[in-house]
Amino acid sequence: MRRPADRPRRVLRHPVRLTERNEIDFAVVQRQGSVPTHIGPARTCVGCRARTLSSELLRVVVVDGALAPDIQRRLPGRGAWLHPDQECLRLAERRRAFPRALRVPGPLEVTGVRSYLEQLADVRKAQGPTQGQQEVRKQVDPS
Ligand SMILES: [Zn+2]
Repeated sequence: MRRPADRPRRVLRHPVRLTERNEIDFAVVQRQGSVPTHIGPARTCVGCRARTLSSELLRVVVVDGALAPDIQRRLPGRGAWLHPDQECLRLAERRRAFPRALRVPGPLEVTGVRSYLEQLADVRKAQGPTQGQQEVRKQVDPS
């Protein structure tokens, strides 16, 4: 206010500050609103190597030296992530991705996972989605 040259600058600065504050507010709102679309961390499918939400992948663990689908995702230990897709299972087998991902030596028995995926595919083909899900839950042996 001592010099006249300061006055136009002050008048200009005030609306700029308001705009900045508005932008920050919008960013916060957008970030909060986008949280539900990022449920869970991203994981890489050990078959096709695509990175996607873990909710779209099947967790696979080692139980007694064999691979087993961890449908509830509650089994302890390291998990490998795989699309519930027989093609991804084939790819993972071919590149020996399971022993690497699960940090275990030697080849792993994939029968448990394969039969789960086969059931999933059969049920999807044969029945409606609601009935199919119930059928898979019934058939899959947790052991
Ligand atoms: Zn995949």
